[in-house]
Amino acid sequence: MKSYVLTEFGAPLQTVEAPVPAPQGTEVLLKTLAAGVCHSDLHIWDGYFDMGGGKHQSLADTGIVPPITMGHEIAGEVAGIGPEAKGVKKGERYVAYPWIGCGECPSCRAGRENICTAGERTLGIRRPGGYADYVLVPHPRYLAPLGKLTPAQAAPYACSGLTSYAALNCVGEAVYKTRPILILGAGGLGLTCLKLLKALGGLGAVVVDTDPKKREAALLAGAFAAIDPKTEKPARAVNAAAKAPIAAAIDFVGAESTARLGMAAVTRGGKYVIVGLFGGEITLALPLIPLRALAIEGVVTGTLAEFKELMDLAARGKTEGVPLQEMPLAEANRALMDLRAGRIVGRAVLKP
Ligand SMILES: [Zn+2]
Ligand SMILES: [Zn+2]
Repeated sequence: MKSYVLTEFGAPLQTVEAPVPAPQGTEVLLKTLAAGVCHSDLHIWDGYFDMGGGKHQSLADTGIVPPITMGHEIAGEVAGIGPEAKGVKKGERYVAYPWIGCGECPSCRAGRENICTAGERTLGIRRPGGYADYVLVPHPRYLAPLGKLTPAQAAPYACSGLTSYAALNCVGEAVYKTRPILILGAGGLGLTCLKLLKALGGLGAVVVDTDPKKREAALLAGAFAAIDPKTEKPARAVNAAAKAPIAAAIDFVGAESTARLGMAAVTRGGKYVIVGLFGGEITLALPLIPLRALAIEGVVTGTLAEFKELMDLAARGKTEGVPLQEMPLAEANRALMDLRAGRIVGRAVLKP
């Protein structure tokens, strides 16, 4: 099998030939049919996150070290089944849940493997992922059927779709069904979030983006309004467009400017949910947090249960994914460079 491997941070991926692994125990071997290229793959490629103020968080310091076979949005066909793996058959097609934890820590025991605190086993980050002909998944419970979806349509639900869904859950059904929310950033995640909001019976959202093309896409996807953050008093403009106080803001950018706008736009008792990893730092007037009863929460991907709920919705055709740009797996390097240069519309998906 061929894998496209990050052997050194910042350097082009290398093609590595190796024998196809044999699944052990509860493992399932998937033959890769599609692997989404995620923005966080760029951070992994670089080897750090920008923490603002010139500070970097090194991935090596958190135990993420090359060689890394990236690709955490994986759809594939069962090609091998470990002796203890039950409930799957060869040839069946699935999407893998990549946010696998240790299974033992308090987070994992509470069903939140995506925020495991003791020993993450994430596919495409700490374990080999989808930029390869084959991927080993530790247990069949991490697989969800494709249903009506093609592998390329299904793969992005494992990260970008799941993160959007988890962000809406963080806002809460009772809130998004009855009150307007603000979505900051109308890229892949923002648009997926808008579509999910509609599929889940949400009241609706105002969207903010600097790019007029993305604002137009947001309006087509059903946003109440799409606002340029460079307008004068953008927080006021957002609330005026919503025609009711904004109950929550979901920030898919995560920059200083979007954080300020998100926190300023929500009403008293509102929530600012931060998802994006653009990077930066802000100073905050602390009394405003209690006086406005402001909640601030971070979302990193979603739980296995959320993944199964979302895949059930998507596999039945109840929500629509982002536009796809399919590329051969052998062009993984080009896909990453195109993503960095902003040349990808929607989601780049690699196919072996
Ligand atoms: Zn991702
Ligand atoms: Zn754990």
